[in-house]
Amino acid sequence: MVVTPHPDDAEFGVAGTVARWTSEGKDVIYTVCTNGDKGTSDPDMKPAELVRIREQEQLAAARLLGVRDVIFLRHSDQALEDTAEFRKEIVRLIRAYKPETVVTADPYRRHIWHRDHRITGQVTLDAVFPFARNLPSYPDLLGEGLQPHKVREILLWGAEEPNYRTDITATFDIKIAALRCHKSQMSEYSSTALEDRLRERHKMLAQGEDYELAEAFYRVEILR
Ligand SMILES: [Zn+2]
Repeated sequence: MVVTPHPDDAEFGVAGTVARWTSEGKDVIYTVCTNGDKGTSDPDMKPAELVRIREQEQLAAARLLGVRDVIFLRHSDQALEDTAEFRKEIVRLIRAYKPETVVTADPYRRHIWHRDHRITGQVTLDAVFPFARNLPSYPDLLGEGLQPHKVREILLWGAEEPNYRTDITATFDIKIAALRCHKSQMSEYSSTALEDRLRERHKMLAQGEDYELAEAFYRVEILR
């Protein structure tokens, strides 16, 4: 399960790995926390129209990557808070889908980091441990048949000190194609600038590995 702050963050963070997983037959679920209604510098763009466009863009990208399901939580952009309600939404989905691995934004970047990214990462970590796995946390969810679930692994993109890399050499092209689905967000990139910039970045992340292109994460394994 990938928990992404805005439509397009998951593509930047983990799309190469997602494409690899789905090609191996693994099920991937996207949870999109905000509706991205402030992701524009066009004064004529209406927020409701932008939301509609961005959901379509996210669905197109997910389809390309072979993602099984996309859940839109539709919180307002720049309005995420670390609340009991938001945490429970994530717990509910973890218990319903029972993911082995949860991927989200690293909340612990120093200095400049989008507040929605920080809060999504933090709330998702809290949801994984202890709330999703703890029996007494939500008696009402038990009543709905949503039993505790233990996630085994967390991958955080955007980590300043990654400890885990995945080989995306074979899926880099599909990552770029998925990013290009987010047309409303890609206007700043010329047709080749996005690809060139990301190729450089993923090459750097693969330094010391025996393959060319990597996505990098801080990985936490939850042993018990
Ligand atoms: Zn974002």
